[in-house]
Amino acid sequence: MATETTKTRNTAKLKIIPEKYGATEYLKISCPLRYGIYGEISTPSYIFGFNRNGEIKTIQGRAGDWLTSAEWLKRTAGDDWQYFSAGGYAGAFNYTGEYYIPLLPYQTNSIFGQNAFKRDEVREAFAAWRRLQKEVEELELPDFSPDKQRFLKRILKMTPEKLRQRGELLHRIIGGMVTVLPPDTRHVEYDVIPVTIADGCLYNCGFCRVKTGLGFSVRTREAVVKQLNELGEFYGRDLINYNSVFLGQHDALHAGRDMICYAAEKAWQVLEMEKSVMKGPCLFFFGSVDSILAAEESLFETLNTLPFSTYINLGLESGDNKTLSILGKPVSAKKVDRAFDRMLEINRKYENVEITANFVIGKGLPESHLPSILELTRNRLSRFYPKGAVYLSPLEEIGDKNRLLTRFNEFKTLCHLPAYIYLIQRL
Ligand code: SF4
Repeated sequence: MATETTKTRNTAKLKIIPEKYGATEYLKISCPLRYGIYGEISTPSYIFGFNRNGEIKTIQGRAGDWLTSAEWLKRTAGDDWQYFSAGGYAGAFNYTGEYYIPLLPYQTNSIFGQNAFKRDEVREAFAAWRRLQKEVEELELPDFSPDKQRFLKRILKMTPEKLRQRGELLHRIIGGMVTVLPPDTRHVEYDVIPVTIADGCLYNCGFCRVKTGLGFSVRTREAVVKQLNELGEFYGRDLINYNSVFLGQHDALHAGRDMICYAAEKAWQVLEMEKSVMKGPCLFFFGSVDSILAAEESLFETLNTLPFSTYINLGLESGDNKTLSILGKPVSAKKVDRAFDRMLEINRKYENVEITANFVIGKGLPESHLPSILELTRNRLSRFYPKGAVYLSPLEEIGDKNRLLTRFNEFKTLCHLPAYIYLIQRL
């Protein structure tokens, strides 16, 4: 049991700031930034950040064994933790397009190592968070100003059990976990509100680790509005920190113009995105070879007029028939070719719409695979274009990591579009 003296000693070490103002625009700079409005408690060894609901959001070490002041832990709305590694700023930017590499505690396709959560200093950071919760419990709340009392009470409500339940609640609202976010969500540090407008995908490819195995179906407008209302309640006081939406699941583009535009406009309205403190609202979703070829021109015309910048990420995988067949992807190279041309056309035509493409990279693929991607991403373009990123997604079998990264770097040098490694992240 803590004595009065220990209590005083502990609380004196806590610097409590109920409301802090971070950056209001997502920036790509080589030092860590906090975004939006948040609360903070700092100790001599750690800085703990809280969202406006009192949920722990970030932990950063500031002394002792903590690796570097440029690395931090971030908790998602789905109750996962991510470790943002600086990874040598230049190297990180080359591979991810950001000045960090997110390391994840679950099995994914990252080739940058996943041991951050086994490191002593990261385990110690979580232990410090548990200690902080006890210290906050022991505080004499009436000693604090009303705004600090309200802040501390919110934190006390968000026990680890409650945080876990909230992650589950988010998944219940949208009808399941987001098993993969589009790589473009890196532009908003993965801070997106997920809204499911369609389930499943068209192909159920053999190689894919995130497929549902079910067919494709579009949700009803009523179901989308119900989700949005529940999401508005779920994010509550923290809604003000969000201005971007992910329309799920794996091929929302195939849901068609009416549903996509309806969901985007409703999300803007119900989630009160106009009131967000963050600038530069974005809309993200996935598309496929068939859905981009079937998409009406009027979809892109409408998306171009929405208050969002729209990013659509297409799973193309390869421009080579032999590779597509090995991957168990039931589309032809000819179709991939047409989908890629359509992507270039849309990127040229619509200022507020950017289509990006995924291709796979890994061990044991035919020699014709990488040249087939270069045929599209180099030979089709007379010079380098900054719009329309190409992501290379590591397969389960990657072989020698260094060899793979070398191949990626060779590809990137030749590619006439921005090229990055695609890290599968869930929410
Ligand atoms: S790669 Fe895309 S289309 Fe293929 S199974 Fe996975 S989610 Fe579906």
